[in-house]
Amino acid sequence: MATLSVVVLGAGVSGLATALALGRAGHRVTLVERDEVTAGEALDAIGWRRQGIPHFHQAHAFTARGRRELRAAFPDVYEALLDAGAHEIDLRPKLRGPLRTEDEELQILGVRRAVIEWALRRAVLREPGITVRSGVQVVGLEATRGDVPVVTGALAADGPIAADLVVDAMGRRSPVPDWITALGGRRMTESSSDCGVIYYTRYYRVRAGASLPDGPWVPTPRADLGYGLFSTFPGDNDTFAGLIAIPPGDQELKVLRRAPAFDAATATMPALHSWTNADTSEPITDVLPMGSLQNTLRSFVDGRPSAIGLISIGDALFHTDPVFALGLSFGLVEARELAAAIEAHGRDLEAVALAFDAAVRPPMVERFANATAVDGLRLRAWQGEPLDVAHRDGGAYPLFAFAAGNAAALVDGDVFRTMIRRNYFLDPLSVLDDDIAMQERIERIFVDLRSTPRPRPGPSRDELIEVMRTALAAIDG
Ligand SMILES: Cc1cc2nc3c(=O)[nH]c(=O)nc-3n(C[C@H](O)[C@H](O)[C@H](O)COP(=O)(O)OP(=O)(O)OC[C@H]3O[C@@H](n4cnc5c(N)ncnc54)[C@H](O)[C@@H]3O)c2cc1C
Repeated sequence: MATLSVVVLGAGVSGLATALALGRAGHRVTLVERDEVTAGEALDAIGWRRQGIPHFHQAHAFTARGRRELRAAFPDVYEALLDAGAHEIDLRPKLRGPLRTEDEELQILGVRRAVIEWALRRAVLREPGITVRSGVQVVGLEATRGDVPVVTGALAADGPIAADLVVDAMGRRSPVPDWITALGGRRMTESSSDCGVIYYTRYYRVRAGASLPDGPWVPTPRADLGYGLFSTFPGDNDTFAGLIAIPPGDQELKVLRRAPAFDAATATMPALHSWTNADTSEPITDVLPMGSLQNTLRSFVDGRPSAIGLISIGDALFHTDPVFALGLSFGLVEARELAAAIEAHGRDLEAVALAFDAAVRPPMVERFANATAVDGLRLRAWQGEPLDVAHRDGGAYPLFAFAAGNAAALVDGDVFRTMIRRNYFLDPLSVLDDDIAMQERIERIFVDLRSTPRPRPGPSRDELIEVMRTALAAIDG
């Protein structure tokens, strides 16, 4: 097998996983990261300053696909996470009916993103074939100019680094597309859509002796409020995140960024409050807002890479609305696929790029289309447009598959299996999208569920505004 020298730009989850996959495959890897890269103890990660990743402390779900990838590719990293206080959340007890062997995959990992990065970092720092350049900013590419520039390395703030292959893992704001254009190359085409949402997250710790109740939700408390949504994210070491999301245009709800308003809001949402109430848990962070979110997919122009010797991965290639919790899993999938493409094509770097792209593009294309469609429909629904989410052919199929599918999953084992495998990227979306019988089953169950009156998951928008106003008035006077 050809041994390549590879420079990986950026040590987020995708860059770390790629460095680890390539280093363990015998390649000489240099990993360059602008922020300081140390490991220390697992919980030190919670205090890391990660200026390069604005969403570092935001709520992250580590889904069933990420678990599968991590256990297969880096079992030592997975074990390190469990030893550090991450825990498996087995969804099988929520599945009604007989289990199948493959249902073992229906598990997610309760862990904070910072701790995932810690475990990957620790493994990278221990790998003899990987050199880590910590606290070093990458400022350009070393390349031969042309229509399709040939990249020969990276230019770091402290000098050039020669390499056979450069991997761009610098995240969603990667400057690489600009650098390619400056070298005379063609920019990758970019499809983009607005997620139409702002997230407000707060992390909590479960109090000693208390436990988080289970209830009629998959997998943890969550619901659409009709004008926004709430959700929860299990973490490591008895932590979890509570999240409320609203459309970016809703100015009055933006007081959620203030802790007293956020706390008052959570108290009005019974499922969320069953976890966030003061007897059960205490907040351990302030409210962390996150907006300006996009779904973005970058693609080759006319089927050719825009540069030879350069591969974009992770968020630099593709990212979607965090509500779909895909990014961490995609980073792990791409690390594995890039190692496989190099193993198959060695020093033929154009063939490596094409093979890598052929492997990762189909799921990106369908997930991008779905995220764009669901986000667009959800925003229209939140803005008051009546949409038919109860019927597969009601004109809002992507939202039907999301909302009706998840509701029906709670009462039907086969729907549950289908929806968990769909949501958590174990199956392609086409599995449900091509299964008319399953869609009709979801439709029947959902219509039936709707015929029984249920308590609202939370207050009306006006009630919520009033509750938050009262909470803030008590403080501001
Ligand atoms: C609010 C929010 C919530 C999310 N929730 C989930 C979730 O629940 N589940 C999930 O799977 N995914 C989630 N995601 C997506 C996930 O966080 C991303 O997909 C993931 O961070 C991508 O990792 P990455 O390594 O590709 O990029 P990043 O994490 O952005 O890392 C890029 C790295 O490059 C470094 N860098 C940048 N520029 C330079 C430079 N010039 N020189 C050197 N280094 C540089 C940065 O410092 C950083 O370390 C969420 C995203 C957001 C925004």
